[in-house]
Amino acid sequence: MPAPTITDVRAIMTSPGSGSLQKRLIVVKVETSEPGLYGVGCATFTQRHRPVASVVDDFLRPLLVGRDPRRIEDIWQTIHVNAYWRSGPVMNNALSGVDMALWDIKGKLAGMPVYELLGGKCREAAAVYRHADGSCPTEVEDNVRKYVEQGYGHVRVQMGGYGGRATPTQALESSLTGAHFDPAAYFRGVLTVFEHIRSTVGFEVELLHDVHERLVPIEAVRLAKEVEPFRLFFLEDLLPPEHIEWFAMARKQCTTPLAMGELFVNANEWKPLVEGRLIDFIRCHISDIGGLTPAKKLGTVCEHFGIRTAWHGPGDVSPVGHVANLHLDVSSPNFGIQEFAGFSEIEQEMFPGCPEVRNGYLYLNDKPGLGIDIDEDLAAKYPCPDGVLDWTQARTPDGTIVYP
Ligand code: MG
Repeated sequence: MPAPTITDVRAIMTSPGSGSLQKRLIVVKVETSEPGLYGVGCATFTQRHRPVASVVDDFLRPLLVGRDPRRIEDIWQTIHVNAYWRSGPVMNNALSGVDMALWDIKGKLAGMPVYELLGGKCREAAAVYRHADGSCPTEVEDNVRKYVEQGYGHVRVQMGGYGGRATPTQALESSLTGAHFDPAAYFRGVLTVFEHIRSTVGFEVELLHDVHERLVPIEAVRLAKEVEPFRLFFLEDLLPPEHIEWFAMARKQCTTPLAMGELFVNANEWKPLVEGRLIDFIRCHISDIGGLTPAKKLGTVCEHFGIRTAWHGPGDVSPVGHVANLHLDVSSPNFGIQEFAGFSEIEQEMFPGCPEVRNGYLYLNDKPGLGIDIDEDLAAKYPCPDGVLDWTQARTPDGTIVYP
């Protein structure tokens, strides 16, 4: 076979079913000179979808057409430095879309699933966790039980979403747009809900919680200390990336396992946390760090520091991105847990090859490459809406805007 070449690179934008601002997905398709040989990759940056598509269509396509798609590392490094300024979520997502598509192509060329190219399976499937929420402790309990009955061994517990937003806040003479929350009420609510769940459901189910950067650093450290008796599987995003130095203080105060990384976009952000053994789970958003190539390297570095993986898997990742997470999960010895939001019927139809969840485990289909595709005609029927996000305008009771 003559060396294949890249003939086209393009971004596909779609918002399956909901037409939601929070479900604007971007998938990159890389086509080659070999008839029928192409790959797909996730480049989803829901909050800024059009700039990612522009980088793919206007800059990466002319850079890549004519190149050999088998040279993944060379192409990754080329894209990474081509704009001179590096990283950032727009550039990294565009890069990720191409990178995952090239791994998909390499797997198809080899006749093997991507996990085989990463070293082969070291487990049959990935344990996943689901999100249980509610407006009061008993409603949260009902939702935790619902997942436990479905076979899940790990459940994330929130009450009133991030920052406990359902909690009433003080009256403020203002009409500022945003998601208002009260950090002090949120703190009390976390302790109340975990006390309730542990005393009713017990300790056999693994519980997780996402602080979502909603506390000032010293309060965050205090929360990590006070939830220690509830034996969390992990406490997530206790601090924002801007305050990672405070992790050292949390470590000195308690043994609550800490997870961090979904907002990271370059290696300088995770290096001090990993080498200092200040976290227990790395949970980068794979497309936001540039795809499978850097994620595989990051996972391996973490393995040698006793840190497990928990790649970010929210609802606003395309099924292609979820599948990329899974190929890493099943082939990484230091896999910890996989976040999973479930797939809607329309997503399963639009993305043939979606993995299946059974008894709390997510299973790949074992087809060559990533094992997933996109129905472009169907995707075109669900265009991405434009609009302004409300939930990222988080405000404290006096109206101050804070990290969302
Ligand atoms: Mg999170």
